[in-house]
Amino acid sequence: MKDMKWYEEMEARIPKGEVRTRFAPSPTGYMHVGNLRTALYTWLIARHAGGKFILRIEDTDQGRYVEGAVDVIYRTLTECGLDHDEGPDVGGPVGPYIQTERRALYKEYADLLVEKGCAYRCFCEKSEDEESTGFEKVADPCRFVSKEESDARAAAGEPYVIRQKIPEEGTTTFHDEIFGDITVENKTLDDQVLIKRDGLPTYNFANVVDDHLMGITHVVRGSEYLSSSPKYNLLYESFGWDIPAYVHCSPVMRDQHNKMSKRHGDPSYEDLIAQGYITDAVVNYVALLGWSPGGEREVFSMKELAEIFELKGLSKSPAIFDIEKLKFFNAEYIRNMSAEDFARVAEPFIRQAVKKPEIDPAAIAALLQQRTEVLTDIPEKLDFFDELPEYETELYVHKKSKTDEAVSLDMLNKMLPVFEAVEDWCDENILTAMTDMAAKEECKNAKVMWPVRIAVAGKAVTPGGAVEICRILGKEESLRRMRVGIEKLSK
Ligand code: GLU
Repeated sequence: MKDMKWYEEMEARIPKGEVRTRFAPSPTGYMHVGNLRTALYTWLIARHAGGKFILRIEDTDQGRYVEGAVDVIYRTLTECGLDHDEGPDVGGPVGPYIQTERRALYKEYADLLVEKGCAYRCFCEKSEDEESTGFEKVADPCRFVSKEESDARAAAGEPYVIRQKIPEEGTTTFHDEIFGDITVENKTLDDQVLIKRDGLPTYNFANVVDDHLMGITHVVRGSEYLSSSPKYNLLYESFGWDIPAYVHCSPVMRDQHNKMSKRHGDPSYEDLIAQGYITDAVVNYVALLGWSPGGEREVFSMKELAEIFELKGLSKSPAIFDIEKLKFFNAEYIRNMSAEDFARVAEPFIRQAVKKPEIDPAAIAALLQQRTEVLTDIPEKLDFFDELPEYETELYVHKKSKTDEAVSLDMLNKMLPVFEAVEDWCDENILTAMTDMAAKEECKNAKVMWPVRIAVAGKAVTPGGAVEICRILGKEESLRRMRVGIEKLSK
């Protein structure tokens, strides 16, 4: 085995007992919630143990490769705080962990298995479709081609794939941290393709070679890989390698019967962000999809999650993605953000509705923070800032504030000169102008504030009250809108 030197160096470099995990996505275009959860659990296992988290791009299936998908993966992991430890982009000594760039390596390992009699070259036409061909190993004539003939045909340039030679008899048992011991009969396992005609490995082979070479101690992935794991185990055994701990996570479902899927319109991580969810809330919620910390508490920072994360909290049952629950987490995170952070995330959504440059988005953000569930709810609440909407004068009727159209007309007429006289247009002065008026009129404050708010907003439900809206609109615009109100009420 030539050119394996770097691996020997790497093995020497991996400290004994170090927990090493990897997230191994295929760049197929989209980071769905299940992927994000796998990445998160993988990261948490490593961070909990003070170990290493490795990112490996599994791009050997060129047919499924989607341009730009690697960027989506990097972006999502970075935004979610799932930092990886090795590879050239983070100054790692080895790598890169991009499988197509390591193609020569897999072939050498497959040849080694052919030498050992644990794999064979298959020259059949049917191997064109490259992948597993069912339970037909006994029927595959190539399985019985002699070593000499196989070597000669390969040397003569005949195309072939390399298949795993699964024992015909016996059983294979492996242990999964969530599902326990699983035993299968070897006769139910097919002689899967390890190396395709184009020389690239299949996922089924590359994952085993790489997990070994990278010293992976915990293999975390979706439970759809459970049924292939006996074949991986046999590969480890053929090489004489240690078998990692397997952690196969149950799927994330859209409902009782269906997995989440892009085809059914279920959101990816980036979709959720575009829909107004906050990264930290998404990550926190996703952590609880199939894992329980025990106890009632649900809101945790990443640091706290890394401290408390344990495999025993993982569930065998599928988790159902509940957007209402995510909303609850989102509202909770929004409420607890600093005013500056909220203003920063809310600004693009505020600016969708409020285009006037003189209006400060941070001032509006302050009105919204305590009552926003998702950021996309924001624009519709702000439609009145740029333009006073058309409204009916019935809006001025409000029993609780003891106002009706006549009272409102009177109040607006009285407030107009008072407001005109306010020099410093700040919350305190706007409020005092109205409470002084209420005192003078011997009425409740609401009887003054209701008409003012309706006049300046043109709607009954607004973020913030009369004071804040007047302040944000500015004196001139507030007075203009009050005059419009007076005109409407005088008709
Ligand atoms: N490349 C595989 C996928 O994206 C990863 C499976 C694994 O983690 O071993 O599904």
